Amino acid sequence: MFSKSLYTRGLQCPKSLWLKKNKPEVLSIPDDSRLAVFDNGDRIGDLARSLFPSGKEIRFDGGSFDEKIAQTKEWLEDGESVIYEATFQYDGVLVMVDILCIRDDGLHLYEVKSSTSLKDVYLQDVSIQYYVLSGLGYEIKSANVVHIDSEYTRGEELEIEKLFKIQDVSEIVRENQQAIPQRLQDFREMLRGNEPQIQIGIQCLNPYECDGCHYCWSEQRKIPDYSVFNLARLPWKKRFELYYEGFVRLEEIESLDGFSKGQRLQILSQKDPQIHIDREKIAEFLSMLRYPIYHLDFETFQQSIPQWKGISPYEQIPFQYSLHIEYEDGRLEHREFLAQEGEDPREEMARKLLEDIPQDVMVMAYNASFERGVIHRLADEFPQYSSLRQIASNIIDLMIPFANKDYYHPKMQGSHSIKKVLPALVPQMDQAYQNLELVHHGGEAMEVFPRLHLMDEELKHKYKKALLEYCKLDTLAMVEILRELRRAIKTE
Ligand code: SF4
Repeated sequence: MFSKSLYTRGLQCPKSLWLKKNKPEVLSIPDDSRLAVFDNGDRIGDLARSLFPSGKEIRFDGGSFDEKIAQTKEWLEDGESVIYEATFQYDGVLVMVDILCIRDDGLHLYEVKSSTSLKDVYLQDVSIQYYVLSGLGYEIKSANVVHIDSEYTRGEELEIEKLFKIQDVSEIVRENQQAIPQRLQDFREMLRGNEPQIQIGIQCLNPYECDGCHYCWSEQRKIPDYSVFNLARLPWKKRFELYYEGFVRLEEIESLDGFSKGQRLQILSQKDPQIHIDREKIAEFLSMLRYPIYHLDFETFQQSIPQWKGISPYEQIPFQYSLHIEYEDGRLEHREFLAQEGEDPREEMARKLLEDIPQDVMVMAYNASFERGVIHRLADEFPQYSSLRQIASNIIDLMIPFANKDYYHPKMQGSHSIKKVLPALVPQMDQAYQNLELVHHGGEAMEVFPRLHLMDEELKHKYKKALLEYCKLDTLAMVEILRELRRAIKTE
């Protein structure tokens, strides 16, 4: 029996389908962030139902699929007009339709997705549903994908019809029908055989990162964690070309022709591990600095369904910042802000930022476009705090010397993200991050904040403390990186 997810899995890679059916123990278990994506999808799915209210739901929990199929049939015969999770089976394929509307002219299928755009994999998903229903003899008038409209900005109330975009994909879904029977036959034959010999390729990452990657890449092909696939700013197609030519480790690459300056540095530093420091360029960067320097770092989270006025789906909403003020004599002063849980944090954050950061000081951020973007959005949303724009224009990016490869350490492995730069330059800080409790990275902070108001007082207190400690360490890390740059131009 095929489900629609097994069918789309097979389309991504037949071997992935084979593993799922015959060797599931080698597939990776979804991590917390993947599970959060599933939860979000469920919430969006539930909300989208209110576009088609008063429907009856075939409940997923309990009961066999045969019972769900029989219940669907019965409700269709009873003349129900909307069924959620309507269940059908045809040609060995079982599908559950997110929302099925039964109108005088026929059936209308709606597949709900939490993303903000229409993707090819969704069309395949709807196509297999169409195949099953039309195979059973139902007349399908339209097949649709319902997804989030990222252009939407919430007003006082949440306007469901504006939050979602409905795209009629009937035409393309009908065109897809012809290929389905042969595909199903091919899948069945493949499943009867031995594990397929399929080369790794772009299908391992697209449309989803395959849960067979650890098995196919690390176990079967012994591809190390750091390999030609980590060559920075090289398109995936080219990375695979290198691999197919027989290169796995960077040091194996013979010719540097065709690689950028940064990629050459990355390859050469594997062949002969050395720290590269362009003192002149770093001195130029440091000469721009004026004291005191305000090291700033935000933590943000997102809401797929905007909870407060002026927010768009998946917008980065700042809820916390840390500020280390560095004086010329080396003194440090720390300020911080953590929003009240369960409330819109933006206005208070805007006000506090203006209180903490004077208009005429140098502000430093790592990957400054993010901090500038957050500040500009706050200024747009709260015009009374428009002077925040001056602060945004005073931001200088600490990432510049690393992005330009003026400072390169082999341990950075081609990356200029602070996660790679910090342990390479200031290894002792790695331990400080490991010693943190509860919150160790931005992803955890992002997941914790929206849950704070659901925690009991004791747990909430612990998590708030952990959030503050984590964010504080981020700006302290910036101070240490800057110190290291200063040291680098002094030592010969
Ligand atoms: S990792 Fe790649 S080759 Fe292996 S099953 Fe997944 S998609 Fe197929």
